[in-house]
Amino acid sequence: MKVAIFGSKAYDQAFFQRVNADYGHELQFFKVRLSAETVQLAEGFEAVCVFVNDQLSEPVLEQLAGLGVSFVALRCAGFNNVDLHAARRLGMQVVRVPAYSPESVAEHCVGLMLTLNRKYHRAWQRVREGNFSLQGLLGFNLHGKTVGLIGLGRIGLSTARILQGFGMQVLAYDPGLKQLPAGIKAVELEQLYLESDIISLHCPLNAHTKHLINADSLTCMKDGVMLINTSRGGLVDSQAVINALKSGKLGSLGLDVYEQEGDLFFEDLSEQVIQDDVFERLLTFPNVLITGHQGFFTEEALAAIATTTLANLSELERG
Ligand code: NAD
Repeated sequence: MKVAIFGSKAYDQAFFQRVNADYGHELQFFKVRLSAETVQLAEGFEAVCVFVNDQLSEPVLEQLAGLGVSFVALRCAGFNNVDLHAARRLGMQVVRVPAYSPESVAEHCVGLMLTLNRKYHRAWQRVREGNFSLQGLLGFNLHGKTVGLIGLGRIGLSTARILQGFGMQVLAYDPGLKQLPAGIKAVELEQLYLESDIISLHCPLNAHTKHLINADSLTCMKDGVMLINTSRGGLVDSQAVINALKSGKLGSLGLDVYEQEGDLFFEDLSEQVIQDDVFERLLTFPNVLITGHQGFFTEEALAAIATTTLANLSELERG
């Protein structure tokens, strides 16, 4: 199949080309993200392959259909950037990679928790300057504390299993839960907010979950709670968390995803000036740690993404 791979990085090319030896698709890589401005590049291709920040709105999908593109292959788990209703209406098939490596995101999530708690990022800098002072580095034991997971799908469950290994009590809120995994207590959101020392988000972004973490929900949480978001930026109202950081309600904040990341991350910013006041203000807090959507970024995850995406395309080709 002829496939246009949008928003591709050098690592996408390396993994997709390596794995494609087994599939034989005709791949062309475009650095630019798919949008209304770049959609013409898809002319002559049967499929587009996209990532989390390519915008597949109704007008873009209509243009793709007009260009003869029949298939959209997401090389990620989330699909909040695709207008699925429009795709269905246009007869376009959309596939994704639902479970490439939940462990890679879960391990990054726990890495954010540990780093924020024990302040490794600050200690690293301090020791490099010859300063062995422990001032400001006091942490707490995870052992015996309570973590609240919002969403207990693949990544949420993997995170739960790691944290159970630390001796944490795990609470989970997930309205779609069919069976409760061992050792985890299912609770309503209110109870999760009330009892958790750390809250971690693992649900999808949709109309129900946008700004799930807002001024009201923050008020219900423990004073000094740690909040981690490795899911999607839109789950968190950034302005509300800035206010909560200022008041001390939020003790620390770890983000691998950010509300406006489409404009900030996934671009080579070396020649650009970041113009986002909220993002800049978040960075001024020493108890905020932000990574650039790298939860998925492990050897195993990238290999699995390439394999599943190319296998998905082969299946679509076979009908
Ligand atoms: P999943 O589909 O396995 O699990 C999501 C869970 O959320 C499901 O169990 C579902 O029932 C639950 N859920 C739905 N609505 C909810 C709500 N309102 N409140 C609480 N729970 C709700 O997905 P996953 O593979 O575990 O991925 C979770 C999220 O992580 C994805 O949606 C994606 O946005 C994000 N993600 C981030 C990265 C990264 O690199 N940072 C990588 C992959 C996925």
